Amino acid sequence: MISFLDLKEINSLHRDELISACARVIDSGWYINGSELESFEIEFAEYCGVKHCIGVANGLDALVLTIRAWKELGRLKEGDEVIVPANTYIASILAITENNLVPVLVEPDEGTFNLCPINVENALTSKTRMILAVHLYGLLAAMPALAAIAEENGLIILEDSAQAHGASINGRRAGSWGDASGFSFYPGKNLGALGDAGAITTDDTELADVIRALRNYGSNEKYKNIYLGVNSRLDEIQAAMLKVKLKDLDAHVLLRKKIAKIYSEGIKNDLIKLPCVFNADAMLDSSNVWHLFVIRTQYREELKKYLADNGVQTLVHYPIPPHMQDAYKGYDFYKKHFPITESIHDQVISLPISQTLTEVDALRIVKLCNDFTLSI
Ligand SMILES: *Cc1c(COP(=O)(O)O)cnc(C)c1O
Repeated sequence: MISFLDLKEINSLHRDELISACARVIDSGWYINGSELESFEIEFAEYCGVKHCIGVANGLDALVLTIRAWKELGRLKEGDEVIVPANTYIASILAITENNLVPVLVEPDEGTFNLCPINVENALTSKTRMILAVHLYGLLAAMPALAAIAEENGLIILEDSAQAHGASINGRRAGSWGDASGFSFYPGKNLGALGDAGAITTDDTELADVIRALRNYGSNEKYKNIYLGVNSRLDEIQAAMLKVKLKDLDAHVLLRKKIAKIYSEGIKNDLIKLPCVFNADAMLDSSNVWHLFVIRTQYREELKKYLADNGVQTLVHYPIPPHMQDAYKGYDFYKKHFPITESIHDQVISLPISQTLTEVDALRIVKLCNDFTLSI
């Protein structure tokens, strides 16, 4: 069986280093807000090309606390509208509703699965204050165009970079395009911890200070609380694990690109639509770090079963769009019609891709996809 993502194998690549980093933390006797976190924050900020990185407990908190911090600073308030792609993972939208801001869902661009700048412009109202740009599946959103819209209309941009560590346009990476950016280091992400972890990156020192306080009970000075904060910290152990894995991130992204290239060049079947590739040589396209390789087909159930019967595990990212989730019953976007988003959710299926998937296995998957027919 070719599994969708073999985390054990992925972490085995760093086994000795992870174990010695773990031992270092155990022996330090210091487990929260210490030197491991501090040095990871410096290294990840440098990697993204920004001044500040603030580690938090997970990717959802990264987004929630950033919006919360802008509220504390008076730059956002309850009821403000936030433009967000309708086809994102629900976490992006939860971060908005958790803060009592109003998500304005817009249809994505069908080719890229990311925000379509024209749809963003059409969704602007007098209440719009922010664009939440999600770099879905590892592809950087159209940041130059979105930044121009934000600039012209005085909007904040928050990036959801949970799936796009290292993706760049003109050398400028995810995490450095927006006013701030939320990252997840969930184990299955391209940079994954051995548990939950997340971070915010920003060049805004004032914002960084507020987030640092919010993640730690609203306190920047022991026993002095200036905000009604939360407990959302990135543990020393996880920071140490992430430092080990960050060193190999670019090399591992390159391996993912090689798999993406094999799929993009090899899969030729009228029943399957491949994800768009901007550069004919997928390996040169720095804007996509291929967190997921998402294909589309009208025959998803058939293809999924066929691949499973032939020893290939696939997943669906995601089967139900946020506006169809019962959690949002009572919200004005609940069960509103988003035809592009709904057809994406009906048709997408993700093929295995990772730094440990072999080229032999990828070629086997290509052959299976090419041999897929509808046996009527
Ligand atoms: C994973 C993910 C998140 C949330 O990250 P967690 O660490 O699981 O909280 C947010 N947005 C997107 C797009 C994600 O893929």
